[in-house]
Amino acid sequence: MKCRHCNNPLTHVFCDLQTCPPSNAMVKPELINCQETYFPLKTFVCEKCWLVQVDELEKAESIFNITFANAGASSPFNVTFFKDACIICNACISKSIFKFTPM
Ligand SMILES: [Zn+2]
Repeated sequence: MKCRHCNNPLTHVFCDLQTCPPSNAMVKPELINCQETYFPLKTFVCEKCWLVQVDELEKAESIFNITFANAGASSPFNVTFFKDACIICNACISKSIFKFTPM
């Protein structure tokens, strides 16, 4: 495996999280009892440019298809949702009895 940025051979494991289904891969209710597809989630770090990356084990087209739940940062719905979430979090923090003090 070679670095996607500088083509340097990758030999150092950065973090091995074992296996995991693709993120945002939602399971349809009719497929709830079927086996999910898991992929190795082992990341490597490039010693030359320090890019951390995973090996491409599956083509993007098979993961990012019509069933992929995209939570894009430019979606008007998501922008409104996260703005509202921040307002709620700030309100909760201001009512908290815990105060952070600088060291
Ligand atoms: Zn590199």
